[in-house]
Amino acid sequence: MGSYAVIGLGRFGSSVARTLVKLGHEVLGIDKSEKKVQEMSNILTHVVAADSKNEEVLKSLGIRNFDAVVVAIGEDTEANILTTVLLTQLGVKNIIAKANTDIHGEVLKRVGATKIVHPEKDMGEKVANNMASGTILDYIELSPKHSIVEFAAPKKFVGKTLGKLNLRAKYGISVLAIKKGERIIVAPGADGLIEDKDLLVVVGENDKVKKCSKSN
Ligand code: ATP
Repeated sequence: MGSYAVIGLGRFGSSVARTLVKLGHEVLGIDKSEKKVQEMSNILTHVVAADSKNEEVLKSLGIRNFDAVVVAIGEDTEANILTTVLLTQLGVKNIIAKANTDIHGEVLKRVGATKIVHPEKDMGEKVANNMASGTILDYIELSPKHSIVEFAAPKKFVGKTLGKLNLRAKYGISVLAIKKGERIIVAPGADGLIEDKDLLVVVGENDKVKKCSKSN
């Protein structure tokens, strides 16, 4: 079980905080709005109504002892950056900060954020990629060039084993899982058989994964 703090309980922050609780972690939610804090008080482990620009408040909450702190303040860019600076100064090791623009993200990195998220941009890219690909159901970007992608097994793969298909040699991709309805085969071996309606979860270079998913 990890312990996390989420600063800013807007739509993004509260969704992160709720999910962490669902996954079995301890979550402290901080927001300057009494109303937001009230709304989340039954859901999160602890909630505090406070302004995160106040160093003393962060110190008294023992913020440096959390495994990671999420800065989910949106519109108020100044508060978002200042909070990240304070967290860095107080010795927080993992700071995940939400950025509104690329430049904002760069600034956050320079003041010590360990991971930057651009929720609107990331989701926009995801939706566009899903729409454009037709066959791709979900993907996680690992780097600008590599992703983990889920897609319906192409018809010509059906009835064949992974050993026979040899996707690593042909496309340079690795199959991480085969989904058969509710059943999932993780790290399938060469004898993993592809059947009609199976979904494949693969990792590889974007172009190669795309080529493989369309290889009908
Ligand atoms: P979302 O899209 O996630 O709803 P948003 O981009 O609209 O968020 P805001 O609503 O501006 O972002 O901020 C998210 C939350 O952060 C709000 O609930 C706000 O009260 C809180 N917040 C803003 N500044 C501070 C601060 N200095 N200290 C603590 N909480 C703050």
